[in-house]
Amino acid sequence: MEIDGNVLAAKSLVRFGVRHMFGVVGIPVTSLANRAVALGVRFIAFHNEQSAGYAASAYGYLTATPGVFLTVSGPGCVHGLAGLSNASINTWPTVLISGSCDQADVGRGDFQELNQIEATKPFSKLSVRASHISEIPARVAQVLEWAQSGRPGGCYLDLPTDVLHQKISESEAEKLLTEVEKNRAKPEPYSISNSKIEEAVSLLRRAERPLIVFGKGAAYARAEHVLTKLVETTGIPFLPTPMGKGLLPDTHALAATAARSLAIGKCDVALVVGARLNWLLHFGEPPKWSKDVKFILVDVSEEEIELRKPHLGLVGDAKQVIEVLNKEIKDDPFCLGNTHPWVQAISNKAKDNVAKMEVQLRKDVVPFNFLTPMRIIRDAIADLGSPAPIVVSEGANTMDVGRSVLVQTEPRTRLDAGTWGTMGVGLGYCIAAAVASPDRLVVAVEGDSGFGFSAIEVETLVRYQLPVVVIVFNNGGVYGGDRRRPEEIDGPHKGDPAPTDFVPNAGYHALIEAFGGKGYLVGMPDELKFALSESFSARKPAVINVVIDPYAGSESGRMQHKN
Ligand code: ADP
Repeated sequence: MEIDGNVLAAKSLVRFGVRHMFGVVGIPVTSLANRAVALGVRFIAFHNEQSAGYAASAYGYLTATPGVFLTVSGPGCVHGLAGLSNASINTWPTVLISGSCDQADVGRGDFQELNQIEATKPFSKLSVRASHISEIPARVAQVLEWAQSGRPGGCYLDLPTDVLHQKISESEAEKLLTEVEKNRAKPEPYSISNSKIEEAVSLLRRAERPLIVFGKGAAYARAEHVLTKLVETTGIPFLPTPMGKGLLPDTHALAATAARSLAIGKCDVALVVGARLNWLLHFGEPPKWSKDVKFILVDVSEEEIELRKPHLGLVGDAKQVIEVLNKEIKDDPFCLGNTHPWVQAISNKAKDNVAKMEVQLRKDVVPFNFLTPMRIIRDAIADLGSPAPIVVSEGANTMDVGRSVLVQTEPRTRLDAGTWGTMGVGLGYCIAAAVASPDRLVVAVEGDSGFGFSAIEVETLVRYQLPVVVIVFNNGGVYGGDRRRPEEIDGPHKGDPAPTDFVPNAGYHALIEAFGGKGYLVGMPDELKFALSESFSARKPAVINVVIDPYAGSESGRMQHKN
């Protein structure tokens, strides 16, 4: 019996651990997808490769195994670049596989021809082609391994049409698969220098105002238990980045989230675990941070540590490094305790800020501002208990307000616009979350503009009957209503809608109804409470269209200074 390249690619994916794939099929990869499904892979078919790519990247993050997505050649691959680049920027293990044109026709204007290796290179750790059917198993194993090893990221595999149609005997294929499987590298544990660990502990022990910061790299490493142990034995306050939220509960007594400015502005030693000192953390520089703060960085990437030039750098997996740190502390423990002035200052400031925010949140403002519906959503999520839903969030004001108001109590339950501030990730992330964590409900809290990028994927939600409730904060545009200054409105097209405008009061709920899902249109607190309660218990695809005052919030959310 002979098999072709499509079958061998599908067999290779299954043999090397792929259980789910995302993508858009067409020439020349339809048979590859069908074969993979026949071998037990769950293939989630999207409308647009961009969303499929976002889904694959979030899947990689949530499962710590590469998220794989499949596209057609040329334009399909180009659409997929959005997902590949977003994966690499977020350091999430992801593999893009694209079909490509016949190798014999390269340079002659073949159907959907593109030099996909060159196109993907700037966005991937590794871009490779299987130029002959016999190379397929090794190439598949290679991209899966590279995506995950060291600092995770995106990888690309090119499968030309002629290779997908080549044939080899089943026994030859089996021999190739066995050989590659035998030679697959096992990840080595990092060697962590004893003296650096001792120095880190000594810095933390001697600090007057220590702080532990952790991010999505620590979440990816499943460092929640070791970080909890570290925080609880030392009594050091902690600050999660947006996607680090939930590694320790936001409600923990040592959480400094609500006292962020004080915590980063006054700490003298900051242990930063799996989080980059990039724009999200104000580059670790004054005026937000004290000029004398000593950073201890824990990161799997040596390059990252060299770039930031911290006081002390520990290269390694976050879970492994913190485990060793905990062991070192165990021999000579120290704990700040509740009455320590630094702990008290953080705790008082956090309580004060939470109380002030709560006064604003308690008001039922109609037409809705951002706070009233966010409070109602927060309370409805809290009522669900454990397992907590995965919250997906994007938009300017919607994401900013959601980050402060929504409470995260479990690890990896928040996905947002991330390192790039990528808008349009929402539906893809929702689908990935539902597939990766079938025991959890998925709740998206999105601006109407973020939702619009990939709104058609509500059909995908309905098709696969995924337990996803998408809440759209509908304020009629990018940032909401027309906020142009008089001097910005002129010219022959001044009668056109503003560049920020969408159709007012758009019926986004009707979009999902077109496919048989459940839609709700709400503008009052009781209507929103009812919609949340019904859709959360149904665990079926739903869109709740929440009409917001177009002039609530600020333009560009908290990034206004850059617009
Ligand atoms: P956040 O957006 O939460 O601040 P970043 O994406 O900026 O987080 O930073 C995550 C960092 O975590 C990256 O520099 C990445 O190299 C690092 N990282 C990824 N995996 C691990 C791991 N297993 N252990 C430690 N660090 C990791």
